[in-house]
Amino acid sequence: MIRQLAGHVAHHLTRLLGGLPTSRPAPVSKRVFIGAAAILILVVAVLVYSWRSGGGDQTVSREFGAVLRCMKCGHSVARSLDVADAPPFSCSDCGAQEAWFLKKCHACGELFLPPLEGDPPRQPMIPSCTRCGSQATGAASTKEAP
Ligand SMILES: [Zn+2]
Ligand SMILES: [Zn+2]
Repeated sequence: MIRQLAGHVAHHLTRLLGGLPTSRPAPVSKRVFIGAAAILILVVAVLVYSWRSGGGDQTVSREFGAVLRCMKCGHSVARSLDVADAPPFSCSDCGAQEAWFLKKCHACGELFLPPLEGDPPRQPMIPSCTRCGSQATGAASTKEAP
């Protein structure tokens, strides 16, 4: 499709340039060169366009608001994090590297820190509420941060 379009444009461009008084009669090699140049320009234009439209995601903020709670001192804080950031984070209150994502139970409304699992320790993907046992849990929203 794009190749056909490029050939089409190149054909017209070659005819247009070839029709100019200064370049008549245009040698075949020159016509081929102009055609190739036109295709190259078109390809670059398409690449730039697709790069721009595809690269739009890079301008979108990778940051998100999260609520962290320190396992050591219990201090909770809302913080803006990059999607690549992974816990544990350092506590802004006591400085310990023990701040994890605060979770919220959608069943009973409890805000809690689930017990860590594995080695190295991580937070479970779907933690059970420490109060009612429900697995209808998710990240605590920054609105609920103290
Ligand atoms: Zn702390
Ligand atoms: Zn619950």
